[in-house]
Amino acid sequence: MTRTTTIIIGGGQAGLAISRCLSEVGIEHVVLERGQLAQRWRSHSWDSLHLLTPNWMTRLPGFQYDGHDPDGFMSAHELIALLERYAISSGAPVLTDTAVQSVQRSANGFRVVTNRGIWSASSVVVATGYCDLPAVPAASRGAAPWLTQMVPAQYRRPEQLPDGGVLVVGASSTGVQLADEIQRSGRQVTLAVGRHTRLPRSYRGRDILWWLDQLGVLSQKADAVEDIERSRHQPSLQLVGRPDHASLDLGVLHDRGVRLVGRVSAIDGHRVRLADDLVATTAAADVKMAEILGRIDQFIARTGVAAAATEPFHPTWPLAVDTPVHLDLKAKRICTVVWATGYRRDYPWLHLPVLDARGEIAQQAGITAEPGLYVLGLNFQRRRNSSFIDGVGDDASMIAQEIVRSMARARVA
Ligand SMILES: Cc1cc2nc3c(=O)[nH]c(=O)nc-3n(C[C@H](O)[C@H](O)[C@H](O)COP(=O)(O)OP(=O)(O)OC[C@H]3O[C@@H](n4cnc5c(N)ncnc54)[C@H](O)[C@@H]3O)c2cc1C
Repeated sequence: MTRTTTIIIGGGQAGLAISRCLSEVGIEHVVLERGQLAQRWRSHSWDSLHLLTPNWMTRLPGFQYDGHDPDGFMSAHELIALLERYAISSGAPVLTDTAVQSVQRSANGFRVVTNRGIWSASSVVVATGYCDLPAVPAASRGAAPWLTQMVPAQYRRPEQLPDGGVLVVGASSTGVQLADEIQRSGRQVTLAVGRHTRLPRSYRGRDILWWLDQLGVLSQKADAVEDIERSRHQPSLQLVGRPDHASLDLGVLHDRGVRLVGRVSAIDGHRVRLADDLVATTAAADVKMAEILGRIDQFIARTGVAAAATEPFHPTWPLAVDTPVHLDLKAKRICTVVWATGYRRDYPWLHLPVLDARGEIAQQAGITAEPGLYVLGLNFQRRRNSSFIDGVGDDASMIAQEIVRSMARARVA
């Protein structure tokens, strides 16, 4: 058995961020990664994937993007290279191809079993990612066996799909990007739209995320929102990172020929039942977007910050007038369903009483009820941007300080 002070599970941006913070305070640790460093970006990205956060938002502890294109959007490959450089410059002690199989309480902390040996430590940080597993609705089980079904982690490019039309389910960040790419490749895409968060790529001369950063929306604390569970389950932003900085919303997709329908509620063979909710969900997204743009306008008026002239607001809902409640996949020659319906987490190896009724790790700012066990990188964990590259560092630094404090307490006791 190998002993260290802290074991970090997961070698993505979260694991590397806390490794850097622990090194800075001189705490011995190891990062256990089941694949390669930044594995998620290697194996779960489609070929054209670029970050939707601008390069200037690529900030990690002790690192700030300083390339020639701060307003550009790096590709997944560029991000992998960047995280590799970050790990080297931090001297991160990463053990790759090392999958954690169980974490248990032991007399002096935790016993962590991996496929390559057993470790013990007084603290463990779970950094296995918010987007660990696809969340696919039960309706998928009713689909005819001749249909090809896939999740975004399996999608690479349009040419990989069988001939015929494509039903993309989910109109958040991933769903709108895949619908757009597949439609542009010459296939007919039908997009099933559920709850979504519409935002323009830029507004009044600045990137929308620059405004949200200025407003403090991204760094808003979990204890400052009314209903944190609702906020944690808010759909991701309908944004894409492209050199032309273009917006990608339902209006744009409609103009490109994508057929918009409501949420998928059931599938029986080749018959899909759709909710009659397209008008309601698009109207709700429009109201929310108008509210955010209004806040930006007020911020500009209040602070006098340089900005372009006010822009007119174009609502989506007139597009959603004729929405079917049934979709016959056979009749429409749709052979593929892509479930862009979000992510879930599963911790079958975590043998500690810290999971809530939904199977999520119960935590406050990353600290669990099990002394010495921490989690990092969850959605809206401590701040709205806790799962973002730009937000995880602040949480990592806080958890590192907490580990230092708990070690000091243990020494006194
Ligand atoms: C399609 C997509 C696009 C995104 N775009 C952006 C963006 O533009 N900007 C932004 O800021 N954020 C973006 N995100 C959100 C976030 O930055 C990513 O999800 C990011 O991967 C989270 O990093 P992480 O380190 O928390 O988790 P991950 O990158 O998921 O890393 C977790 C690591 O843990 C490892 N692991 C899991 N289980 C075990 C185990 N049992 N033993 C050992 N290792 C294990 C995994 O192999 C993985 O490498 C995006 C997310 C997705 C899904």
